[in-house]
Amino acid sequence: MSGLSVKGSHCSYAVYRDDERVSAFYHFQDRAFGRLDQIAKNDRSKDRNCMSCQTAFRSDGIHNRLCNHCRAKYFDPRMA
Ligand SMILES: [Zn+2]
Repeated sequence: MSGLSVKGSHCSYAVYRDDERVSAFYHFQDRAFGRLDQIAKNDRSKDRNCMSCQTAFRSDGIHNRLCNHCRAKYFDPRMA
């Protein structure tokens, strides 16, 4: 797991991975948490090979194993 957290005080918050700062400083804590969400999402997405056609594609996460083309076919067989 990634050790992402928001640290800061007063008007200066940032996202840290373990002890390394990985975002800009934000005046508001909720902005920093929003950035943390983006970073966490980015961490989960990676290039995978489609389990149907083996084409490399950008996956949103572990649940996303079909490329867009195959997913379209899967959900709408008329497009096959
Ligand atoms: Zn595919």
